[in-house]
Amino acid sequence: MHDHVERVLIDRSAIADRVGALARQIAQDMAPPVGTHAEVTLVSVMTGSVVFLADLIRHLPLLLRVRLLTVSSYPGKATQSQGPRVEGLPPEDLAGHHVLVVDDILDSGKTLELVCQTIRRQNPASLRTCVLLKKQVPRQGGIEADYFGFEIPDDFVVGYGLDFDGRYRNLPDIVTLKRQVLA
Ligand code: 5GP
Ligand code: MG
Repeated sequence: MHDHVERVLIDRSAIADRVGALARQIAQDMAPPVGTHAEVTLVSVMTGSVVFLADLIRHLPLLLRVRLLTVSSYPGKATQSQGPRVEGLPPEDLAGHHVLVVDDILDSGKTLELVCQTIRRQNPASLRTCVLLKKQVPRQGGIEADYFGFEIPDDFVVGYGLDFDGRYRNLPDIVTLKRQVLA
């Protein structure tokens, strides 16, 4: 597997540092006002954000719940988005909750847009978004994330949860793959 890697873009220690800093910022912003019990619900977009979610929540000293939402836009060996679709039923108990959407990467913005639309139908008390990566590309409808870890160039990346054809999620670093692997 490691001989499929072209280049390490962000290594595991840089990711760990940044995730810790992001969590501190989020914890500060989303901590309930003293004397209240405002609930925080993380809605994590599967499957790419699974590793990010696992690391992030262990740095968040908040009373929180985790809900999962499956969106797929890269069926099989596609490296271009085929348009996001919510699979299965979206989480249903978000009314009145402070919601933080957690996703792996913001590219065109279609996925985040779809997820936010889906969640808003349930009247959350507030809605924020957090992505580990954002690509330096123009965004559909100008959507941006409230929190992000790293800005990256417009390359197809895998590792730390992100896949190509279901594989490479277990790589601890964020990397690009050799052209012959993607072909
Ligand atoms: P968007 O809808 O913003 O164009 O794409 C976001 C979704 O596409 C992400 O949640 C992610 O699953 C997938 N995606 C976008 N860029 C990449 C990439 O470089 N590598 C991988 N593995 N997935 C990507
Ligand atoms: Mg995704």
